[in-house]
Amino acid sequence: MAYKISESCISCGTCEGACPIGAISQGEETYVIDADACVSCGACADACPVGAIAEAE
Ligand code: SF4
Ligand code: SF4
Repeated sequence: MAYKISESCISCGTCEGACPIGAISQGEETYVIDADACVSCGACADACPVGAIAEAE
């Protein structure tokens, strides 16, 4: 199950650097996770200052 970035993302970019496989990039309104590439390590969720990242249901 991949992780997902919610609308509360403030586009700070912290998670992009935290992802070990480069699955996160800047989208139009929020940063976005490539669900096919994500290995669900959770590093991005731990790094996000506003808690905008969680495991998708
Ligand atoms: Fe990258 Fe891990 Fe976050 Fe998936 S859970 S986007 S692999 S940091
Ligand atoms: Fe958005 Fe959180 Fe990533 Fe910053 S760390 S770009 S607030 S999802």
